[in-house]
Parts: sequence; C-alpha cells; structure tokens
Amino acid sequence: MATSTPFAGPLQVDAWRLTEQALTPAQPLLCETLLSLANGYIGTRGTLEEGLAGQSSCEGTYLNGVYSSEPIQYGESACGFARNNHTMLQVANGKRIYCELDGERVELSGALEHQRSLDMRQGVLQRQWQWQSKSGKRLLISSQRLVSMQHPELLCIAYQVTALNFSGEIAICSELDACYAPFSKKDDPRVGVFSIADTLNLQQQGFAAQQGWMLHQVHGSDFAVCAMMQHAWPAVANNISQLQLKPGVLCEQALWSLQQGESASLTKWVLYRHQSVADTTDLVQRCALQLAELSQHSFASLAAQQASACQQFWQQADVQIEGDAAMQQGIRFNLFSLWQSAGKDGRSNIGAKGLTGPGYDGHYFWDTEIYVIPCLSFTQPAVARQLLGFRYQQLDAARQRAREMAHSTGALYPWRTIGGEECSAYFPAGTAQYHINAAIAYAIRCYYLASDDWHFMREQGIEMLVETARLWLQLGCFNPRRDGAFEIHGVTGPDEYTAIVNNNFYTNAMAQLHLRFAVEMAQKLQAEASEQLERWQLSAQELALWQQAAERMYLPVDARLGVHPQDDSFLDKKRWDFAATPNDKYPLLLHYHPLVIYRHQVLKQADVVLAMVLLDDAFSPVQKARNLAYYEPLTTHDSSLSACIHSIACAELGQLAEAHAFFGDSARMDLDNQHGNTEHGVHIACMAGTWQALVFGFAGLRSRYDGLHFAPRLPAQLPGLNFRLNYRGRVIEFRVQQGQAQYQLLTGEPLVIFHDGEALQLALQQPRQRPLLAGEAV
Ligand code: BGC
Repeated sequence: MATSTPFAGPLQVDAWRLTEQALTPAQPLLCETLLSLANGYIGTRGTLEEGLAGQSSCEGTYLNGVYSSEPIQYGESACGFARNNHTMLQVANGKRIYCELDGERVELSGALEHQRSLDMRQGVLQRQWQWQSKSGKRLLISSQRLVSMQHPELLCIAYQVTALNFSGEIAICSELDACYAPFSKKDDPRVGVFSIADTLNLQQQGFAAQQGWMLHQVHGSDFAVCAMMQHAWPAVANNISQLQLKPGVLCEQALWSLQQGESASLTKWVLYRHQSVADTTDLVQRCALQLAELSQHSFASLAAQQASACQQFWQQADVQIEGDAAMQQGIRFNLFSLWQSAGKDGRSNIGAKGLTGPGYDGHYFWDTEIYVIPCLSFTQPAVARQLLGFRYQQLDAARQRAREMAHSTGALYPWRTIGGEECSAYFPAGTAQYHINAAIAYAIRCYYLASDDWHFMREQGIEMLVETARLWLQLGCFNPRRDGAFEIHGVTGPDEYTAIVNNNFYTNAMAQLHLRFAVEMAQKLQAEASEQLERWQLSAQELALWQQAAERMYLPVDARLGVHPQDDSFLDKKRWDFAATPNDKYPLLLHYHPLVIYRHQVLKQADVVLAMVLLDDAFSPVQKARNLAYYEPLTTHDSSLSACIHSIACAELGQLAEAHAFFGDSARMDLDNQHGNTEHGVHIACMAGTWQALVFGFAGLRSRYDGLHFAPRLPAQLPGLNFRLNYRGRVIEFRVQQGQAQYQLLTGEPLVIFHDGEALQLALQQPRQRPLLAGEAV
C-alpha cells in the first residue's frame, strides 16, 4: 500500500536547491548524505569542514571502483560460498579545515547561525555560518566545495574567515586526515563496517614544496592510492607551517593578523588517484605534476566549468512537473544524484547507495541494470554505455564464477560486487538471484533499442548475452511431468522475502526474453561476422535449444485465482498477518528470522508485478489488473525498489491516484528519509525508478523495435509533465499541457512515434499534439 507521507525532510523545498537552514543540523547524518558531492570517481559526504565534535557523524570520501577486500568469516562454510567481501574504498579526508582563535577551537557548538546550500545548477556546496568565542569575538566563516565533473580526480574548496567585531590573530589549519573515526551499524545487515584504519596501510607521507601527500596500499586488493593537497594562501598570510601531526594526518597551518572587517582566505585543491600496486613507482610524482597543473585553476574558474557541466546535464536530463514543488525537487535531486554517482570510465559502476555512504559496502547490484540503465539510456546514453562496458570488463570473472558454481559453460554475474567477485555472504538472497544474468541482458537490450549502437553489440553486448544465456539451460530442464515445459529450479526472484524456489515467475519470464534476444542478436551477428560465433563455440544446435527453451518456458496462470503464481509453492503458503504486525516491526527483515518470513505469502518488493512492467506486451491488461490486485496487498515495499514499479503498474492500468501515491513514496524517499536509513546513503535504484514512474508510468513510454510508444495518462495532482529523450541520435521532447500531450523532435532525422497505438510522423519544427488518455484503462 502506498503511504504517501507528508513532506518531512530537513532541507527546504526549492526547485533547484537543497538548503539546510538550521543553527545546528537537526539530523547530521542525514544531511551529510543529502549534501554529498560526487563526480563518478570521487564521492564525499556533506560533512562539515571542522567535523562535528561530540555528535555522531559518518565521515567518508570514497573512490568508485576501488575497494578493499577481506575474507568472509563463516561459522559453517560450504563449497562455492563467496570467499571475499569487497568494500568501497574510503580515503583520506581532504575537506578538513578549522580555525583557532585565542587558543579556542572554532566548532559548530559556538555557532550563532548556520546555513548550507547545494545548488543543483552549479554543483557547488556553499556554507556560511557565524561563530562566537567564549569572550564574545565573532567570526563569519564561509566555504564553497566542489568535486569537479571536468577533472575526475579533483576536489576543491574555497574558504574564508572574516573578523566581525574584533582585531586579532587567528590560525587556519587545513588537513589531510586518514585517521578519522570508523562507522558501522551492527544491528543492520544493510550497513557495512567502514573503517579507514582497517583498509589503508600507510606507505609514505610527506610534504614537498607546496604539496602534502600520502601514499597508501589498500588492504587485500591490488590498489595503491595517493591523496595530495595543495593550498593557495594570499600573500598576507604569515607563518605558514607544514606539520606531520601523526602517521596519516598532515596539516598546513597559517596565522593571520586581522583587522576588524578583514578576511582571511584560502583555496585548497585535493587530488586522489589510484593505481595497481606493481605500478606505483612514480604515482606520487604523477600526482604532483597533475595537482600543480590543476591548481592553476582558481576556485571561480573550476566553479564556472562545473556550472557549464551541470547546464549540459540538465539540458538533456531535466524533468519538469507542474503543481508540486516538493516532487519537483525530489525528481531533480534524484537525477542529480544518479549523475553524480554513476561511474563514467568503464571501470566503475554505480553502487546501490551511489558514492554517498557506507550502505551495502558500496556494492553494485542489479539495481544498475533494471533501474539505472533504462533511465540513462534515454538521458545520458554515453554513461549507460560505460556502465555496460564495466560489466564486459568483468565477464571473465563471471565465467570463473560459473565454473565455481558447477556450470561447464557460460558466465554467472555476481549478485553483489565491486571488483567482479561474488560478495554475497547470504546465498539464499544473494547468489541464488540468478536473475542478475537476465537483468544484464535486459539492460543491453534496453540500451540497444534506445541507441541503435550496433558497434557496442558487436564488440561487447552479444558476447555478454551469449555467455549469460548459457546458464539457463544448465539451471533448468524440460520437465516431462509438465509436458516438456522448460522449468528453472532452485533460484530466488527479486522478492527477497521468498527464497530458493522452483519456477520463480519473474526469473522464467526474464530468461525467456533473454534467450530470445540472445538468439536474435547471435543470428544477426552471424550474418556479418560468423567467426565470433565460432570463437564462442556457439553452434546452430545450441541456438535451437535456446529457442526451444524460450518457447516452452513454464509461465503458468493459477486456474483458481487467475493470477501468475510467484513460484511453484507461493500460493500454497499462508498469508502474512498484516493486521497483527505493528508498524514498528517493519522492515520485516530486521524483526523476523528469514525462515519465518519465507513461510508466508508476503513480499518485500515487486516480483510478478515487476515482470509485468518490464515485459508489458506479454500480458493482457486484464491479466495485469488481476496480478496487481493480488500481489499489491501482500507487498510491504520494505525494499525501496518497489514503490516506483507499483507506480508504473498502476499508471498503466489507469489507477492514477494510486500511481501518484506510489510515485510520491519514491520521489522524495531520500529527501524525506522515508525508509529511515538515508543516513547510510541514498537509494539509487529508487531514484532512477522515480524517473521511470514519470516516463514509463505517467507518459506510458515503451521502447519497442518499431519505435517509441506513448500512452500518457496524468493524475490530477500532476497537471503538467515535460522531459526530453535521447533516442537513436535524436532528441525528442515530450510535454503535457492543458490535457494535451505534445511530441516534438528537437534534433535529428524525422521519425515515427506512437501515441496510444496511432503512428505520428515527427519532423523538426513540427510539434504533434494528441489528447491524454482517460483514467481507468481496465
Ligand atoms: C533489495 C535488492 C537490492 C538491494 C540493493 C535489497 O534490499 O531487496 O533487490 O538489489 O537492496 O539496493
């Protein structure tokens, strides 16, 4: 059931800004997550420069794709269990800057007022606060921080302190700190243990000329990391000293004599780079050269570059909705967060929590393929391509994993990972989710349909499709007891409140799509480059077998209930007693042993309903309505991946009020901390799912071989909706105003699109309008 809680976040509602307007942050950990900055490589939480003495804080600066690794400790292990856990790398904190006045440390506890604001059009976090010493001396402190989109290894801060009511001396200290406090939440399996001391081994540190640096080796993995800082102090600063406070903490300090009204300022550039351990000989030297070059850019010029990167991003990706400022802020924040956290170099991906916190150890899941890539394929196709390229890089590791799991051919992608190795310690809700393979196939298909990028398919896409498809025939069999239907056994579907079942409907349906698409693409490739098929030893017989398995895939409808059973045993179980479950027992996973949950009809997240959304033309509207009516009341939406999918399913059926409520639950999930755990990072899949709820839900977009199909239906609460799509080398704008949907081609060749099945020819300068569809569809 959609909950639609009223707006309750700590940041002000504003279309473009996230502003914290409190003297002391009411919810420090939450604001640290929400005010994170990232560029796909570096991510850094919105912690305060001077730290938060005496209050809980989760300091963190992370490098995407770089991880520490350590053996998973099992009380009782077994063959094929995941061996090591990867943890997203946490590196030295370069944000740390603080002042001292008359020997007194300037800390938030002495603040008179405090404001921070992140403008999503600028990509800069600004802060201003006033502080008063015990003797009544007042300082105005302001800072601006950015993580450069233009220069992936760079973080930069401009910092200024003004003496408001006194003349005297102050000290400003700027640190590179690799000894900050660890963070863990032992009672919540979704939060990893993040301890910089356990993951980095200091190799060297020092100052050379204007630069202070540290070189670390990463625990358990083949990475060395260099963090380096450089400052520009205006000429009036004196007594600049460079101090090695202890191993892992460097400090550059300057003293100032300020007259009343005068300001002290500094610019701080921080560079992070990593390298394979074998290749570190000149890493520090290369960083020094790069930082010397980057520090030629003033903060203002970096901020101008940042604003122009943001402008380009919004030009492609912005979604405007009418009539609801809070939702508008939500969708923009979600898109901005996806852009910030998505790896853009083909060597990194996007974690379930992005680069914003320690949740899920920074692991990459199917969240990327089912939620993020469909959104990026239409808004940032180049980034979608890089995320798929990352999976290609890990294909060999997936092949190896398949062998470990006793499959003689093919590839099995890990349920959760950073470096390519399976990291799920709880296999029933981890490795057993073989649908990860189908998710990768689905994302490849989605990107290909939107981009027409045959080059990618030929070079990487089809090889992944083929290798992953090979697993289905080994996981399943043609069952003579069911007239030769192809069945898949011993798997877990998306709904993690049911585990290790036969014939999970979602898995079977997605495997069918996967096998069909793999056959189709392999045949297409064969026509032009048959040597590749030979290299993969893909024979006509194997393709025929895939086709047969797809045709005979077991996808039953329960004769009594008229719904698709979630799996072979789901409908036989007793229903969860929701009436007897108090609110404080959710999410169920934190309060009941998995076996208790597995014994019931209860869902954590969309399963059959997700299949209906992803494979929409495989179901009749009546069938969809029946499935939704059956499964919705059984779904807790304890996973943040669920509400957005139910929103799409409801929108398609014309249940617009429900669709809007589910959309509301997703759009501001993090801003309002609706799941109570945004402190440990944002919910990336949900964020991308919000875009899907608007575009695939309310605009009714479906991407098919013959083109884009729209079926727009808007709820009363959202009278206007406007977005752009990148599509096969074109940009198309969709706009709803006064009950009319307008389609316009902004760039590229003319094309045909479909509105409620009607073909519309689109050409430049010739917008086409059609009335919106009515509410209830079934
Ligand atoms: C969900 C998974 C998801 C993971 C990471 C879990 O709670 O059940 O489907 O992949 O979170 O977001």
